Amino acid sequence: RTLTAGQVRSKFVDYFATRGHRHVPSSSLIPSNDKSILFTNAGMVQFKQHFLNPTAAPCKAAVSVQKCVRAGGKHNDLDNVGYTPRHHTFFEMLGNFSFGSYDKTQAIRYAWEFLTEELQLPKERLKATVLESDRQSLDIWTNVIGLPRSSVAQLTERDNWWSMGEFGPCGPCTEVFWDNHSMDPERWLEIWNVVFMQHNKTLDGLSDLDTLCIDTGMGLERVLSVLQGSLDNYQTDLFVPLLDKIRSAATNRAADPALHRIMADHVKSSVFLMSDGVIPGPVNRGYVLRKIVRRGARAAATVGGIHMTDLVPTVLDMYPRDLYPELHERRVQVTEMLRSEEEFLHSILTRARHQVTVYLKNATSESRVIPADRAFDMYASHGFPLDVVEMIAEEHGWTVDVDGVQVLLEEHRHVSAGKLTADDEPTTKSVAVTNAANKFVGYDRLTVDTTVRAVD
Ligand code: ATP
Ligand code: MG
Ligand code: MG
Ligand code: MG
Repeated sequence: RTLTAGQVRSKFVDYFATRGHRHVPSSSLIPSNDKSILFTNAGMVQFKQHFLNPTAAPCKAAVSVQKCVRAGGKHNDLDNVGYTPRHHTFFEMLGNFSFGSYDKTQAIRYAWEFLTEELQLPKERLKATVLESDRQSLDIWTNVIGLPRSSVAQLTERDNWWSMGEFGPCGPCTEVFWDNHSMDPERWLEIWNVVFMQHNKTLDGLSDLDTLCIDTGMGLERVLSVLQGSLDNYQTDLFVPLLDKIRSAATNRAADPALHRIMADHVKSSVFLMSDGVIPGPVNRGYVLRKIVRRGARAAATVGGIHMTDLVPTVLDMYPRDLYPELHERRVQVTEMLRSEEEFLHSILTRARHQVTVYLKNATSESRVIPADRAFDMYASHGFPLDVVEMIAEEHGWTVDVDGVQVLLEEHRHVSAGKLTADDEPTTKSVAVTNAANKFVGYDRLTVDTTVRAVD
């Protein structure tokens, strides 16, 4: 009997709820009152203040199924999508959290018991990693849990130190891996990360927290890929309906299957981001969303016979209303916004493709790089955004001097008047949907600093 996504979500929540954890709903993908990250990238984001001040937390422990987007900032998986079986821009994280109410042993015990008893995963296929200096975790895994010493790897901070971004609560972690018994580089599949929140990083450096807190995160799609046997997130019930729909509509049989996966992934992140109030735009979150939509739309154009918009009903069927009401409530706006972005991309691509191709035919550059001033001019005189120019250049085996364009854009921004802060960034709540696709530039570099200026 294989478990479905819905069953795994319920099992997880029930397991921890019956062990004193309060079930807290997923928070928005736009972190509230937090300018240090672009999107909610882990379950702990909404609990950040509780780790810093556990005595003020409204509960001692919590459990959640959190929607996450990793497409910018420290945890950015955008370029992995379609090319690994396990990274998405949008995914759900199952997590349990303690605000000073239990210790490392209990945290590790919960994870182990949930995997091996609730989900009945065979113990001998599970491995753990710990931070090399963390003797205590090594001891818990080998002496309390009873894992063979050879099943616990001691790694450096590169692997076993977790932080949500550049600043904020952080600490050593221990991770659980599934051994797929193959010889390939994908042999070890990371499924669960148990973080010991012991420090806080600020501009002043690293400080110790008074109370040990626990923050864990397990990727729902990944654990499903283990439970359902494929070890490929795209073959789980959280992707199959989308891929079936894409495959049966596709007119270009020769298109790279990675494009199908990119479409399936990107339509999810687009729809979830839009329903949380992000609108495609020239800077910050809006720019990342725009980039995601455009990549998806371009993949769709190559696959043929289908648009990103056609996939929205499938996404809504897969993520039920009781779990994600906002998705269903904003269905109409989201569909329209996606449609207008997609149409806009196609119209600009058609115009830009002609011009850029003519340019490339006459250009002489041995390194096949479009110089910054040319790319900037394509934006300034014709309105062709940098990423669109990059797309077309790529089709011809060329690249663009992106760094040079940034410099020119920066200069351009200094002479422009409008100011916009991250908090003033328009959202679906404040801007009519029809405005969505109007203005943009290919400003590519993301800043998480608090003040950004509008580029046009
Ligand atoms: P990886 O090393 O595979 O990139 P990670 O170490 O960056 O994962 P964590 O920050 O530890 O991931 O997040 C906790 C869990 O969330 C991971 O163990 C994994 O199950 C899941 N996860 C992380 N990134 C993704 C992603 N891009 N798509 C789907 N699931 C993810
Ligand atoms: Mg990662
Ligand atoms: Mg990792
Ligand atoms: Mg990890």
